[in-house]
Parts: sequence; C-alpha cells; structure tokens
Amino acid sequence: MLKIAVVGVAGRMGQALIQAIVGEQGVDSENERQMVLSAAIQRPGSSLLGVDAGELAGVGRVDVPVIATLSEADFDLLIDFTTIESSLNNLEFCRVNGKSMVIGTTGFSEHEKQFLIQAGKSIPIVFAANMSVGMNLCFHLLKQMSQVLAQDSDIEIIETHHRHKVDSPSGTALRLGEVIADTLGRDLNDCAVYGRQGISEPRDRNTIGFSTVRGGDVVGDHTVLFASDGERVELTHKASSRMTFAKGALRAADWLQGKPANCYDMEDVLGLRD
Ligand code: NAD
Repeated sequence: MLKIAVVGVAGRMGQALIQAIVGEQGVDSENERQMVLSAAIQRPGSSLLGVDAGELAGVGRVDVPVIATLSEADFDLLIDFTTIESSLNNLEFCRVNGKSMVIGTTGFSEHEKQFLIQAGKSIPIVFAANMSVGMNLCFHLLKQMSQVLAQDSDIEIIETHHRHKVDSPSGTALRLGEVIADTLGRDLNDCAVYGRQGISEPRDRNTIGFSTVRGGDVVGDHTVLFASDGERVELTHKASSRMTFAKGALRAADWLQGKPANCYDMEDVLGLRD
C-alpha cells in the first residue's frame, strides 16, 4: 500500500488531490490502486491544523489530521502542488529522507529546475507543469502534426482561462509553442508573436502566434490551429475540472512505485517517450 502525503491541502489542487485519493481508496475493482492518504500538510500557523483532511476537502472523515511539517508525517511519496519556495524545501527533505515525489508546482526558472534534476539522482521524482493525461497526449500528437503540417501552415495557439488567471499566455500554451518550435528546429524566442493590433505586414509563415482570452470560470482551453490554403486542422484540449490534474498526479504516483531514482515527466508515465 503506497502511503501518500499531500502538501498544501487547503489549496485548490490540494483539495482536488484529497478528493481524488479518497475516491481511489473507495473504488472496489480489480484495477483499484493500492494507495492511501497517510498525511496532510498545510503551512505552520495555519488555522486548519488539526482539522480532518477529508472533512476539509468535503469527502467525509478520513482520520488524517492536517499537520504543519513533513517531519511529523509517515509517508512513502509526497504530492506537492504549492509554491516554488515550498516545493524546493520539500524536495530537500525528501532527498535527505529517501522519499519519492510528484511535483506539479509551476513557474520554476531554468536554474531552479536544476535542483529537481540533481535530486533525481537520489530519489524518484515525476515533475510536470501540466499533469493532465489528455494534454500530455496532445503534446505528443503535436510533434507529428507539426512535422506533417507546418511546411504549408500558419500556426496559431489560442488559450482561454478564468478571469482570475494573472499570467499570459498560460504555461501550457508556451509549452505547446515549445513543442512545435523544437520539432521544427526553431527557437520559440525568435518566432513567437504575442497578440496583434493595428496595421502590420502580411503574416510570416515561420512565426507561431499566441492569443489569450480571459473570462468567467474556464479551467483551461487550448487550441493549436494549423491553417493552410484549403484546410484547417485544430488540436483542442479542454479541462473542465482540476480533477484531471489530480488524477494525472495519482497516475504518476502509482507509476513511480519501484522506479529507480530519476527526474521523470508525464511522457515517461504515459509511455510516450520517443
Ligand atoms: P493555491 O494557492 O490554491 O494552493 C497552494 C497551497 O499551498 C495553499 O494552500 C498554500 O497555503 C500552500 N502552501 C504554500 N506554501 C506552503 C508551505 N510552505 N507549506 C505548506 N503549504 C504551503 O494554488 P493551486 O491553484 O492549488 O496551485 C498550486 C500550484 O500548482 C501552482 O504552482 C499552480 O500553477 C500549479 N498547478 C499545476 C498543475 C499541473 O498540472 N502541474 C495544475 C494546476 C495547478
């Protein structure tokens, strides 16, 4: 039985993760994953310390009280969707104590990502800025689409998110752009065009355009458009709930059991690595 600790349990993803783990525990099927929520962590000083994690997440009592530090917790694997500072501290704890990690926190600089790669020499880690299984399949399909369609197509990436999202384009939209640019041997920094206004030259086929839409409660929609003379091909992914990211994280946790130390990503988890 894999003992899972979740950190940041008061957060949007922390809540979704507890709901997903408790849901898995309750599934009575041959495919039931052997995992249990063994610890729930929120930052020291939180008013939620001592509260039952299941009741906090609205799934009923699970007899796992919210605690303040990893050193109080009994677990095999930590799932961490918090902040960069918190995730790097937790990474060090897990490295020293030989615990596995699934990290979904976004926004790491290239320098900070090196800490994850270094820790991957000691412990098994899955790190992915988008844990959705469907979106990771889209990344994979996009390589093939780019190889076949890019020569004759204008490529545009359109993303829509809820009104509270502050960064744009989304990290996932940028990742889609990187996948296309890498496949075509281009540098995204040189070929990206972010938004358009006023009079401009005709579109340069070597560019990748980004458009951002913000409104309502949209969890995350992404479309890559390949537009050529005579046809358009669109690859679209729509996330309707954070549960897709939580389920992806659990799939990563399950896959990581027994794996040697390394810093893996969702391509490894899904068997999509070329
Ligand atoms: P949130 O702000 O709702 O939750 C973050 C939680 O972490 C909060 O409860 C906060 O109190 C807690 N926290 C921060 N520092 C802590 C510490 N030192 N110790 C314990 N708890 C601490 O944010 P969110 O929407 O849940 O997103 C969290 C992260 O996950 C962000 O970086 C977000 O971009 C990322 N995210 C990734 C994916 C993915 O698929 N990889 C999907 C959604 C969100």
